[in-house]
Amino acid sequence: MPVVRKALVIGGGFAGTCSAIQMRKAGIEVDLVEIDPGWRSYGAGITLNGATLRALGEVGVLAQIMTQGACCDGVEIFTAHGHKLAELPTPRLAGPDVPGGAGILRPVLARILAEATRSLGTHVRLGCHATSIDQQQDLVEVTLNDGTRGSYDLVVVADGVRSRTRDQIFPGAPKPFYTGQGVWRAVVPRPSEVQRPCLYMGARVKAGVNPVSSTEMYLFLTEDRPTNTHVDDVELLPQLRTLLAEFSAAVPAQVREVLSCESHIVFRPLDALLMPQPWYLGRVVLIGDAAHSSTPHLAAGAGMGVEDAIVLAQELQKAVSLEQALADFQRRRWPRCRLVVENSVRLGEIEQTGGSKEEHANIMRASMMAMAAPY
Ligand SMILES: Cc1cc2nc3c(=O)[nH]c(=O)nc-3n(C[C@H](O)[C@H](O)[C@H](O)COP(=O)(O)OP(=O)(O)OC[C@H]3O[C@@H](n4cnc5c(N)ncnc54)[C@H](O)[C@@H]3O)c2cc1C
Repeated sequence: MPVVRKALVIGGGFAGTCSAIQMRKAGIEVDLVEIDPGWRSYGAGITLNGATLRALGEVGVLAQIMTQGACCDGVEIFTAHGHKLAELPTPRLAGPDVPGGAGILRPVLARILAEATRSLGTHVRLGCHATSIDQQQDLVEVTLNDGTRGSYDLVVVADGVRSRTRDQIFPGAPKPFYTGQGVWRAVVPRPSEVQRPCLYMGARVKAGVNPVSSTEMYLFLTEDRPTNTHVDDVELLPQLRTLLAEFSAAVPAQVREVLSCESHIVFRPLDALLMPQPWYLGRVVLIGDAAHSSTPHLAAGAGMGVEDAIVLAQELQKAVSLEQALADFQRRRWPRCRLVVENSVRLGEIEQTGGSKEEHANIMRASMMAMAAPY
């Protein structure tokens, strides 16, 4: 007898869609509710490291990512003036024929995962959220904002770092905290010399570009901001141009020239959160950013959520009880997700305090090795 026959996924981001996909493959009936009626994905591009590509391969969407994104090996690091400092390898974790990293536009990845979710038979309801979650001995009764009710063996909460559901299930849960940095992103045309991610180390800010298709790349720029201040839309373009002024290297200088109101410029203050164990209570479990949200220093946040989805479905298939499945899920996910959150936050602290470059490099190396290990 399966431990879960019917599940509800709350949130249709990368973690929620992958959870629905993996549970459907395990023969579980799945409903997914997404609060956004348009099921949109915000932001410019996203970097998929080797471990994330390996996980997305397991989910079954690698071929689409390879054709609709831009896969490449290695990362180049330059000074702000374009002097090459290093070229780092990116091991091929998703297989010998799959490059060690990729970039893709967020809306493109979201569409790929939404199509896979629907094609495997998940019942998707947009513009919906849970208004009550009532845990009983053998099931969970969920009421949605449209008044409909459903009974589930398991509720998977994947509604992101500001999860309302987390606060409802765990009233004392910690809140995300501001880490003192913000990230700017924009989508710009890709010059032919940009063949892989390139990082430019400025004195005050760090910039980088990553191809997301044959014709486009996304710019990311990390800035120290002691206080979490809002940036008005009209200020996005002039402020980003000012921050890029210290880079005389050809690529960032050219990006500065071509930036326009059409460049999908986004500014995001960087928050982090590590929910203490356990991430489950009764028949409700948190995955993805709802449980562990990291800053993008290791470009691994989305990948950790995808891995959560895979491991949860594996444990649901193996275990003889739901409690056992959730305990085993927690045991496998805690050390890995904790490492990514804590190391990402530490990297940001070192950058803000002008700390040891050696410690920064050691943390990067140790984290990459840990993420490359099997999950
Ligand atoms: C600036 C920045 C750059 C980043 N860059 C990278 C990167 O390069 N690589 C990488 O791997 N990671 C990166 N990350 C991290 C990555 O974006 C997140 O880890 C990932 O998007 C989290 O996915 P999620 O599905 O858990 O949550 P989300 O993406 O937040 O999705 C949650 C979903 O739930 C929905 N929702 C919210 N509330 C409700 C509700 N009550 N009911 C129903 N639905 C609800 C939302 O509309 C949304 O669709 C970055 C993060 C930031 C901030």
